[in-house]
Amino acid sequence: MIELLTIGDELLSGRTADTNASFIARALTEAGLSAGRFSSVGDGLEDIRRALTGLLPDTRFLIATGGLGPTDDDCTAQAAAATFGRKLAVSRAAIGTMERRYREFGRPMPDAAKKQAVLPEGCVPIENPVGTACGFLIKDAGRQFFFLPGVPEEVHAMTGFIIEHILRECGMRQIIKSRTLKVFGLWESRIQELLKDRLPDLPAVALGFYPSFPEVSLKITATGSDEQQIDNELLLFQTVIQEHVGDYIYSDNNETMEEVVGRMLAAQGASLAVAESCTGGLITHRLTNVPGSSAYVERSFVVYSNRAKQELLAVPEAALAEYGAVSEPVARLMAEGARKAAGTVYGLSVTGIAGPEGGSAEKPVGTFFIGVAAPGQTIVKKQFFPGTREKIKIMSSQMALNHLRLVMMGKGIE
Ligand code: AMP
Ligand code: MG
Repeated sequence: MIELLTIGDELLSGRTADTNASFIARALTEAGLSAGRFSSVGDGLEDIRRALTGLLPDTRFLIATGGLGPTDDDCTAQAAAATFGRKLAVSRAAIGTMERRYREFGRPMPDAAKKQAVLPEGCVPIENPVGTACGFLIKDAGRQFFFLPGVPEEVHAMTGFIIEHILRECGMRQIIKSRTLKVFGLWESRIQELLKDRLPDLPAVALGFYPSFPEVSLKITATGSDEQQIDNELLLFQTVIQEHVGDYIYSDNNETMEEVVGRMLAAQGASLAVAESCTGGLITHRLTNVPGSSAYVERSFVVYSNRAKQELLAVPEAALAEYGAVSEPVARLMAEGARKAAGTVYGLSVTGIAGPEGGSAEKPVGTFFIGVAAPGQTIVKKQFFPGTREKIKIMSSQMALNHLRLVMMGKGIE
Protein backbone atom coordinates (compact mmCIF):
# COMPACT_ATOMS: atom_id res chain seq x y z
CA MET A 1 0.00 0.00 0.00
CA ILE A 2 1.41 3.38 -1.02
CA GLU A 3 0.36 6.36 1.04
CA LEU A 4 0.20 9.84 -0.41
CA LEU A 5 0.52 12.84 1.88
CA THR A 6 0.21 16.32 0.44
CA ILE A 7 1.36 19.18 2.61
CA GLY A 8 0.34 22.83 2.47
CA ASP A 9 -2.08 25.30 4.05
CA GLU A 10 -3.22 26.28 0.57
CA LEU A 11 -4.61 22.77 0.04
CA LEU A 12 -6.68 22.89 3.21
CA SER A 13 -8.01 26.37 2.52
CA GLY A 14 -9.12 25.28 -0.94
CA ARG A 15 -6.98 27.92 -2.62
CA THR A 16 -4.98 25.27 -4.48
CA ALA A 17 -6.44 22.06 -5.89
CA ASP A 18 -4.44 19.00 -4.94
CA THR A 19 -3.23 18.07 -8.39
CA ASN A 20 -0.06 16.45 -7.02
CA ALA A 21 -2.05 13.64 -5.41
CA SER A 22 -4.02 12.93 -8.58
CA PHE A 23 -0.89 13.10 -10.74
CA ILE A 24 1.05 10.67 -8.56
CA ALA A 25 -1.93 8.34 -8.19
CA ARG A 26 -2.36 8.23 -11.94
CA ALA A 27 1.34 7.52 -12.47
CA LEU A 28 1.20 4.73 -9.89
CA THR A 29 -1.82 3.20 -11.58
CA GLU A 30 -0.18 3.30 -14.98
CA ALA A 31 2.83 1.50 -13.53
CA GLY A 32 0.65 -1.27 -12.13
CA LEU A 33 0.89 0.05 -8.57
CA SER A 34 -1.84 1.72 -6.57
CA ALA A 35 -2.31 4.44 -4.02
CA GLY A 36 -3.83 3.13 -0.81
CA ARG A 37 -4.88 6.43 0.69
CA PHE A 38 -4.62 10.17 0.20
CA SER A 39 -4.25 12.58 3.05
CA SER A 40 -3.47 16.24 3.30
CA VAL A 41 -2.17 18.31 6.13
CA GLY A 42 -1.33 21.98 6.70
CA ASP A 43 2.13 23.49 6.96
CA GLY A 44 2.42 23.35 10.77
CA LEU A 45 5.45 21.35 11.92
CA GLU A 46 3.52 19.55 14.64
CA ASP A 47 0.64 18.75 12.27
CA ILE A 48 3.01 17.19 9.75
CA ARG A 49 4.84 15.25 12.45
CA ARG A 50 1.58 13.90 13.83
CA ALA A 51 0.39 12.90 10.35
CA LEU A 52 3.66 11.08 9.62
CA THR A 53 3.71 9.38 13.02
CA GLY A 54 0.14 8.22 12.49
CA LEU A 55 1.16 6.64 9.20
CA LEU A 56 4.23 4.84 10.57
CA PRO A 57 2.68 1.59 11.85
CA ASP A 58 1.35 0.23 8.57
CA THR A 59 3.03 2.15 5.79
CA ARG A 60 5.80 0.67 3.72
CA PHE A 61 5.94 3.40 1.09
CA LEU A 62 4.90 7.01 1.46
CA ILE A 63 5.15 9.79 -1.09
CA ALA A 64 4.78 13.27 0.38
CA THR A 65 4.82 16.59 -1.44
CA GLY A 66 5.14 20.18 -0.24
CA GLY A 67 6.85 22.22 2.43
CA LEU A 68 10.42 21.93 1.18
CA GLY A 69 10.81 25.56 0.15
CA PRO A 70 13.31 28.02 1.58
CA THR A 71 10.87 30.04 3.69
CA ASP A 72 10.09 29.63 7.38
CA ASP A 73 6.65 28.18 6.78
CA ASP A 74 8.20 25.22 4.96
CA CYS A 75 9.06 22.70 7.64
CA THR A 76 8.53 19.23 6.17
CA ALA A 77 12.22 18.35 6.59
CA GLN A 78 12.10 19.24 10.31
CA ALA A 79 8.89 17.28 10.77
CA ALA A 80 10.37 14.24 9.00
CA ALA A 81 13.52 14.44 11.13
CA ALA A 82 11.42 14.64 14.31
CA THR A 83 9.25 11.70 13.24
CA PHE A 84 12.20 9.42 12.69
CA GLY A 85 14.26 10.75 15.59
CA ARG A 86 16.97 12.07 13.31
CA LYS A 87 19.04 15.22 13.56
CA LEU A 88 19.00 17.80 10.79
CA ALA A 89 22.24 18.43 8.99
CA VAL A 90 23.45 20.10 5.85
CA SER A 91 23.51 17.46 3.14
CA ARG A 92 26.70 17.88 1.13
CA ALA A 93 25.14 16.03 -1.79
CA ALA A 94 22.12 18.35 -1.73
CA ILE A 95 24.30 21.48 -1.49
CA GLY A 96 26.40 20.26 -4.42
CA THR A 97 23.31 19.65 -6.55
CA MET A 98 21.79 23.00 -5.65
CA GLU A 99 24.99 24.87 -6.43
CA ARG A 100 25.09 23.21 -9.81
CA ARG A 101 21.46 24.13 -10.50
CA TYR A 102 22.04 27.78 -9.61
CA ARG A 103 25.14 27.83 -11.81
CA GLU A 104 23.03 26.50 -14.68
CA PHE A 105 20.47 29.26 -14.05
CA GLY A 106 23.39 31.75 -14.03
CA ARG A 107 22.46 33.08 -10.58
CA PRO A 108 24.32 33.06 -7.26
CA MET A 109 22.78 30.80 -4.65
CA PRO A 110 21.01 32.96 -2.05
CA ASP A 111 21.74 32.16 1.60
CA ALA A 112 18.05 31.48 2.25
CA ALA A 113 18.18 28.67 -0.30
CA LYS A 114 20.76 26.80 1.79
CA LYS A 115 17.96 25.88 4.16
CA GLN A 116 16.74 23.54 1.44
CA ALA A 117 19.88 21.47 1.85
CA VAL A 118 19.27 20.96 5.57
CA LEU A 119 17.86 17.46 5.59
CA PRO A 120 17.35 14.64 8.09
CA GLU A 121 20.59 12.78 8.74
CA GLY A 122 21.04 9.58 6.81
CA CYS A 123 18.47 10.43 4.14
CA VAL A 124 19.10 9.97 0.43
CA PRO A 125 18.71 13.21 -1.55
CA ILE A 126 16.56 12.88 -4.68
CA GLU A 127 17.61 15.04 -7.58
CA ASN A 128 15.14 17.63 -8.83
CA PRO A 129 15.75 18.12 -12.55
CA VAL A 130 13.60 21.26 -12.87
CA GLY A 131 13.99 23.18 -9.61
CA THR A 132 16.46 23.84 -6.85
CA ALA A 133 14.89 22.08 -3.85
CA CYS A 134 16.01 18.46 -3.60
CA GLY A 135 13.65 15.77 -2.54
CA PHE A 136 14.79 13.12 -0.11
CA LEU A 137 14.14 9.55 0.90
CA ILE A 138 14.18 8.28 4.46
CA LYS A 139 14.61 4.55 4.87
CA ASP A 140 13.70 3.30 8.28
CA ALA A 141 12.91 -0.21 9.50
CA GLY A 142 11.78 -1.45 6.09
CA ARG A 143 9.80 1.70 5.38
CA GLN A 144 10.62 4.12 2.62
CA PHE A 145 9.27 7.65 2.90
CA PHE A 146 9.79 9.93 -0.09
CA PHE A 147 9.54 13.71 0.28
CA LEU A 148 9.15 15.93 -2.77
CA PRO A 149 8.73 19.67 -3.23
CA GLY A 150 5.19 20.94 -3.79
CA VAL A 151 5.58 22.66 -7.16
CA PRO A 152 3.62 20.50 -9.60
CA GLU A 153 6.19 20.67 -12.43
CA GLU A 154 8.84 19.42 -10.03
CA VAL A 155 6.57 16.63 -8.79
CA HIS A 156 5.93 15.63 -12.41
CA ALA A 157 9.65 15.51 -13.11
CA MET A 158 10.51 13.44 -10.02
CA THR A 159 7.66 10.93 -9.85
CA GLY A 160 9.06 8.60 -12.51
CA PHE A 161 12.25 8.06 -10.56
CA ILE A 162 10.31 7.24 -7.40
CA ILE A 163 8.01 4.81 -9.13
CA GLU A 164 10.91 2.98 -10.70
CA HIS A 165 12.52 2.80 -7.28
CA ILE A 166 9.37 1.35 -5.71
CA LEU A 167 8.95 -1.16 -8.53
CA ARG A 168 12.54 -2.32 -8.02
CA GLU A 169 12.07 -2.56 -4.27
CA CYS A 170 8.96 -4.67 -4.77
CA GLY A 171 10.78 -6.89 -7.26
CA MET A 172 8.17 -5.88 -9.82
CA ARG A 173 8.35 -5.28 -13.54
CA GLN A 174 10.82 -2.57 -14.05
CA ILE A 175 10.58 -0.99 -17.44
CA ILE A 176 7.68 1.38 -18.10
CA LYS A 177 7.05 2.78 -21.54
CA SER A 178 4.15 4.77 -22.80
CA ARG A 179 2.80 6.28 -25.96
CA THR A 180 0.18 8.98 -26.27
CA LEU A 181 -2.28 9.12 -29.15
CA LYS A 182 -4.13 12.41 -29.57
CA VAL A 183 -7.72 12.18 -30.74
CA PHE A 184 -9.89 15.00 -31.98
CA GLY A 185 -13.47 14.79 -33.18
CA LEU A 186 -14.68 11.98 -30.93
CA TRP A 187 -15.55 12.22 -27.26
CA GLU A 188 -14.23 9.76 -24.73
CA SER A 189 -17.43 7.70 -24.53
CA ARG A 190 -17.51 7.20 -28.30
CA ILE A 191 -13.87 6.12 -28.36
CA GLN A 192 -14.63 3.64 -25.60
CA GLU A 193 -17.52 2.26 -27.64
CA LEU A 194 -15.32 1.87 -30.71
CA LEU A 195 -12.69 -0.01 -28.73
CA LYS A 196 -15.03 -2.13 -26.64
CA ASP A 197 -13.98 -5.81 -26.70
CA ARG A 198 -11.46 -5.06 -29.40
CA LEU A 199 -8.27 -4.42 -27.46
CA PRO A 200 -5.83 -7.29 -27.09
CA ASP A 201 -5.89 -8.99 -23.71
CA LEU A 202 -2.48 -7.96 -22.42
CA PRO A 203 -2.37 -7.64 -18.63
CA ALA A 204 0.84 -5.59 -18.65
CA VAL A 205 -0.66 -2.90 -20.89
CA ALA A 206 -3.00 -0.21 -19.59
CA LEU A 207 -4.97 2.34 -21.58
CA GLY A 208 -5.77 5.69 -19.97
CA PHE A 209 -8.26 8.25 -21.31
CA TYR A 210 -7.36 11.86 -20.61
CA PRO A 211 -9.90 14.31 -22.01
CA SER A 212 -8.70 17.88 -22.17
CA PHE A 213 -11.01 20.15 -24.12
CA PRO A 214 -11.31 20.01 -27.10
CA GLU A 215 -9.54 16.67 -27.48
CA VAL A 216 -8.78 13.36 -25.79
CA SER A 217 -5.38 11.82 -25.15
CA LEU A 218 -5.11 8.06 -25.11
CA LYS A 219 -2.08 7.00 -23.13
CA ILE A 220 -0.94 3.43 -23.60
CA THR A 221 1.41 2.28 -20.87
CA ALA A 222 3.22 -1.05 -20.90
CA THR A 223 5.31 -2.47 -18.10
CA GLY A 224 7.59 -5.46 -18.07
CA SER A 225 11.16 -6.63 -17.86
CA ASP A 226 11.74 -7.31 -21.54
CA GLU A 227 12.04 -4.11 -23.54
CA GLN A 228 11.48 -5.79 -26.89
CA GLN A 229 8.29 -7.36 -25.63
CA ILE A 230 7.08 -4.04 -24.23
CA ASP A 231 7.72 -2.35 -27.58
CA ASN A 232 5.83 -5.10 -29.38
CA GLU A 233 2.88 -4.88 -27.00
CA LEU A 234 2.72 -1.09 -27.26
CA LEU A 235 2.76 -1.32 -31.03
CA LEU A 236 0.08 -3.99 -31.08
CA PHE A 237 -2.20 -1.90 -28.86
CA GLN A 238 -1.54 1.19 -30.94
CA THR A 239 -2.27 -0.63 -34.18
CA VAL A 240 -5.61 -1.94 -32.92
CA ILE A 241 -6.61 1.51 -31.65
CA GLN A 242 -5.61 3.12 -34.95
CA GLU A 243 -7.62 0.55 -36.86
CA HIS A 244 -10.81 1.46 -34.99
CA VAL A 245 -10.34 5.17 -34.33
CA GLY A 246 -8.73 5.97 -37.68
CA ASP A 247 -8.05 9.52 -38.80
CA TYR A 248 -9.54 10.95 -35.64
CA ILE A 249 -6.07 10.19 -34.25
CA TYR A 250 -4.02 13.13 -35.34
CA SER A 251 -0.79 12.28 -33.52
CA ASP A 252 0.77 9.11 -32.16
CA ASN A 253 3.51 11.09 -30.52
CA ASN A 254 1.72 13.41 -28.09
CA GLU A 255 1.97 16.41 -30.42
CA THR A 256 -0.44 19.34 -30.50
CA MET A 257 -2.69 19.89 -33.51
CA GLU A 258 -0.67 22.95 -34.52
CA GLU A 259 2.56 20.97 -34.35
CA VAL A 260 1.12 18.29 -36.60
CA VAL A 261 -0.24 20.79 -39.12
CA GLY A 262 3.06 22.66 -39.05
CA ARG A 263 5.04 19.48 -39.58
CA MET A 264 2.87 18.58 -42.57
CA LEU A 265 3.15 22.04 -44.12
CA ALA A 266 6.92 21.99 -43.67
CA ALA A 267 7.16 18.50 -45.19
CA GLN A 268 5.22 19.68 -48.24
CA GLY A 269 7.25 22.89 -48.43
CA ALA A 270 3.87 24.64 -48.50
CA SER A 271 2.93 28.08 -47.23
CA LEU A 272 -0.24 29.15 -45.45
CA ALA A 273 -2.32 32.29 -45.10
CA VAL A 274 -5.10 32.41 -42.53
CA ALA A 275 -8.23 34.56 -42.56
CA GLU A 276 -9.72 34.67 -39.09
CA SER A 277 -13.00 36.20 -38.10
CA CYS A 278 -14.52 34.70 -34.94
CA THR A 279 -11.20 33.23 -33.76
CA GLY A 280 -9.64 36.72 -33.67
CA GLY A 281 -6.11 35.49 -34.34
CA LEU A 282 -6.20 32.36 -32.18
CA ILE A 283 -5.36 30.02 -35.07
CA THR A 284 -2.31 32.09 -35.95
CA HIS A 285 -1.33 32.35 -32.31
CA ARG A 286 -1.40 28.56 -32.04
CA LEU A 287 0.47 28.02 -35.29
CA THR A 288 3.18 30.50 -34.33
CA ASN A 289 3.65 28.92 -30.91
CA VAL A 290 5.47 26.17 -32.78
CA PRO A 291 9.20 26.85 -33.24
CA GLY A 292 10.11 27.08 -36.91
CA SER A 293 6.62 28.17 -37.97
CA SER A 294 8.06 31.06 -40.00
CA ALA A 295 8.91 28.42 -42.61
CA TYR A 296 5.22 28.03 -43.51
CA VAL A 297 3.07 30.74 -41.88
CA GLU A 298 3.13 33.49 -44.50
CA ARG A 299 0.61 35.90 -43.03
CA SER A 300 -2.76 36.17 -41.43
CA PHE A 301 -5.71 38.47 -41.67
CA VAL A 302 -7.87 39.13 -38.64
CA VAL A 303 -10.95 40.26 -40.50
CA TYR A 304 -13.53 40.90 -37.85
CA SER A 305 -15.64 43.44 -39.70
CA ASN A 306 -17.30 43.20 -43.08
CA ARG A 307 -15.16 46.12 -44.21
CA ALA A 308 -11.99 44.20 -43.33
CA LYS A 309 -13.21 41.18 -45.28
CA GLN A 310 -13.79 43.39 -48.30
CA GLU A 311 -10.62 45.46 -48.03
CA LEU A 312 -8.10 42.75 -47.16
CA LEU A 313 -9.59 39.69 -48.83
CA ALA A 314 -11.62 41.21 -51.66
CA VAL A 315 -14.82 39.55 -50.44
CA PRO A 316 -17.51 41.33 -52.53
CA GLU A 317 -19.95 43.49 -50.61
CA ALA A 318 -22.78 41.79 -52.48
CA ALA A 319 -21.81 38.36 -51.11
CA LEU A 320 -21.77 39.69 -47.56
CA ALA A 321 -25.15 41.36 -48.09
CA GLU A 322 -26.74 38.34 -49.74
CA TYR A 323 -25.42 35.47 -47.58
CA GLY A 324 -24.20 37.18 -44.41
CA ALA A 325 -20.66 37.14 -43.01
CA VAL A 326 -21.22 33.74 -41.41
CA SER A 327 -21.98 31.65 -44.47
CA GLU A 328 -20.58 29.03 -46.77
CA PRO A 329 -19.91 31.42 -49.69
CA VAL A 330 -18.17 33.98 -47.50
CA ALA A 331 -15.94 31.32 -45.84
CA ARG A 332 -15.00 30.19 -49.36
CA LEU A 333 -14.28 33.73 -50.54
CA MET A 334 -12.24 34.40 -47.40
CA ALA A 335 -10.06 31.28 -47.83
CA GLU A 336 -9.55 31.97 -51.52
CA GLY A 337 -9.02 35.68 -50.89
CA ALA A 338 -6.34 35.00 -48.27
CA ARG A 339 -4.59 32.49 -50.52
CA LYS A 340 -4.62 34.89 -53.43
CA ALA A 341 -3.63 38.02 -51.51
CA ALA A 342 -0.73 36.22 -49.84
CA GLY A 343 0.27 34.06 -52.79
CA THR A 344 0.38 30.92 -50.64
CA VAL A 345 -0.27 27.25 -51.33
CA TYR A 346 -3.09 27.10 -48.78
CA GLY A 347 -5.65 29.55 -47.47
CA LEU A 348 -7.57 28.74 -44.30
CA SER A 349 -10.61 30.69 -43.14
CA VAL A 350 -13.03 30.71 -40.24
CA THR A 351 -16.16 32.74 -39.82
CA GLY A 352 -18.70 32.07 -37.12
CA ILE A 353 -20.90 33.22 -34.28
CA ALA A 354 -19.16 32.95 -30.92
CA GLY A 355 -22.02 34.55 -29.00
CA PRO A 356 -23.48 34.98 -26.53
CA GLU A 357 -25.44 37.41 -28.74
CA GLY A 358 -25.81 37.43 -32.51
CA GLY A 359 -27.38 34.00 -33.04
CA SER A 360 -30.57 33.33 -34.99
CA ALA A 361 -32.85 30.36 -35.52
CA GLU A 362 -31.12 29.62 -38.80
CA LYS A 363 -27.61 30.30 -37.49
CA PRO A 364 -27.52 29.78 -33.75
CA VAL A 365 -24.54 30.73 -31.58
CA GLY A 366 -21.85 28.15 -32.20
CA THR A 367 -22.38 28.00 -35.96
CA PHE A 368 -19.25 28.48 -37.97
CA PHE A 369 -17.86 27.81 -41.41
CA ILE A 370 -14.33 26.71 -42.18
CA GLY A 371 -12.79 27.09 -45.61
CA VAL A 372 -9.64 25.48 -46.90
CA ALA A 373 -8.41 26.81 -50.24
CA ALA A 374 -5.90 24.40 -51.74
CA PRO A 375 -4.44 24.16 -55.23
CA GLY A 376 -7.33 23.31 -57.53
CA GLN A 377 -10.06 23.12 -54.93
CA THR A 378 -11.69 24.90 -52.03
CA ILE A 379 -13.53 22.88 -49.43
CA VAL A 380 -15.92 24.57 -47.04
CA LYS A 381 -17.52 22.89 -44.09
CA LYS A 382 -20.33 24.03 -41.84
CA GLN A 383 -19.85 23.22 -38.17
CA PHE A 384 -21.88 23.64 -35.05
CA PHE A 385 -20.58 23.59 -31.53
CA PRO A 386 -22.69 25.26 -28.85
CA GLY A 387 -20.80 26.49 -25.80
CA THR A 388 -19.30 29.52 -24.15
CA ARG A 389 -17.63 32.14 -26.28
CA GLU A 390 -14.19 30.96 -25.19
CA LYS A 391 -14.94 27.32 -25.93
CA ILE A 392 -16.41 28.14 -29.33
CA LYS A 393 -13.22 30.00 -30.21
CA ILE A 394 -11.02 27.12 -29.08
CA MET A 395 -13.17 24.54 -30.84
CA SER A 396 -13.36 26.49 -34.09
CA SER A 397 -9.59 27.02 -34.14
CA GLN A 398 -9.07 23.31 -33.54
CA MET A 399 -11.57 22.29 -36.23
CA ALA A 400 -9.98 24.69 -38.70
CA LEU A 401 -6.53 23.24 -38.13
CA ASN A 402 -7.94 19.73 -38.32
CA HIS A 403 -9.70 20.45 -41.61
CA LEU A 404 -6.47 21.72 -43.06
CA ARG A 405 -4.75 18.56 -41.82
CA LEU A 406 -7.35 16.34 -43.51
CA VAL A 407 -7.18 18.26 -46.78
CA MET A 408 -3.38 18.01 -46.76
CA MET A 409 -3.72 14.25 -46.22
CA GLY A 410 -5.97 14.15 -49.27
CA LYS A 411 -8.92 13.03 -47.15
CA GLY A 412 -12.43 14.25 -47.63
CA ILE A 413 -13.93 16.22 -44.80
CA GLU A 414 -16.73 14.49 -43.04
P1 AMP B 1 5.67 24.28 -1.53
O1 AMP B 1 6.89 23.60 -2.01
O2 AMP B 1 4.83 23.50 -0.59
O3 AMP B 1 5.94 25.65 -0.96
O4 AMP B 1 4.73 24.50 -2.80
C1 AMP B 1 5.10 25.34 -3.86
C2 AMP B 1 3.97 25.58 -4.84
O5 AMP B 1 3.38 24.35 -5.23
C3 AMP B 1 2.84 26.42 -4.26
O6 AMP B 1 2.49 27.40 -5.24
C4 AMP B 1 1.72 25.48 -4.05
O7 AMP B 1 0.47 26.10 -4.24
C5 AMP B 1 1.97 24.38 -5.06
N1 AMP B 1 1.51 23.11 -4.48
C6 AMP B 1 1.93 22.60 -3.29
N2 AMP B 1 1.32 21.41 -3.05
C7 AMP B 1 0.50 21.17 -4.11
C8 AMP B 1 -0.41 20.10 -4.44
N3 AMP B 1 -0.58 19.05 -3.63
N4 AMP B 1 -1.09 20.19 -5.61
C9 AMP B 1 -0.90 21.25 -6.43
N5 AMP B 1 -0.08 22.28 -6.16
C10 AMP B 1 0.62 22.26 -5.01
MG1 MG C 1 3.94 25.06 0.83
